[in-house]
Amino acid sequence: MLALRDVEVRYGAVRALRGVSLTVEPGEVVGLIGANGAGKTTLLSAVFGLARTHAGAIEFDGVSLRGLVPERIVRHGLALVPEGRHIFETLTVRENLRLGATALADRRALPAQLDAVLERFPKLAQLADTPAGRLSGGEQQQLAIGRALLSQPRLLMLDEPSLGLAPLIVDRVFEVLGELRQQGTTILLVEQNALRTVKFADRTYLLRAGEIVLSGGAELASADALRAAYVGA
Ligand code: ATP
Repeated sequence: MLALRDVEVRYGAVRALRGVSLTVEPGEVVGLIGANGAGKTTLLSAVFGLARTHAGAIEFDGVSLRGLVPERIVRHGLALVPEGRHIFETLTVRENLRLGATALADRRALPAQLDAVLERFPKLAQLADTPAGRLSGGEQQQLAIGRALLSQPRLLMLDEPSLGLAPLIVDRVFEVLGELRQQGTTILLVEQNALRTVKFADRTYLLRAGEIVLSGGAELASADALRAAYVGA
């Protein structure tokens, strides 16, 4: 579904991605882990048209995404839940959700899609007319995910959805992702929380200093493999 081949991204002299290749197949949950500054956000930005790639190929269902702007990319069926959630605090929950539908191919689908998201997140339904700034961190994360779902993505990419949330709330975020997976949503999940991600995802890639240094399934959870990769042994 998504394929990156030898992707390079540079910020001036910084080589943030050094020939990264990865794939996401339909229905899969793929994890992407790595330390701060490893290039995880850059990879999502490159896919979503927010960072310029200097070399390599990025294809979604066989269509090249290179050079496309995010608005076009959303129309191909990709959505991004950015790090830090980027909620509009003075707008209500419902208004925030509607913003996610600006790229909906068929605008007539908006009311039904809005209902579907509110049904999936009962908490958001209760808070539909509340300014988003009054929501807790966990509720805002649900809102950010709900907003991304408004465009009916075939592939949902999330950048550190558990960042800054209390452990119980992190559990809830993973529960929501588990529900989405059951409904067949394909997910590319960027996380700092390495062990949890390895256990949750079908496959996980480990990025270090802009390169994929390890990939695999649940067997990566053997602490040695992960620790070795993080410290570079
Ligand atoms: P984090 O977990 O902190 O978000 P990350 O794995 O997502 O880290 P990136 O944010 O992708 O890492 O950063 C990769 C490298 O690129 C780092 O060395 C970072 O300092 C650098 N970098 C990221 N964005 C920019 C930018 N806009 N300009 C210059 N350098 C950047």
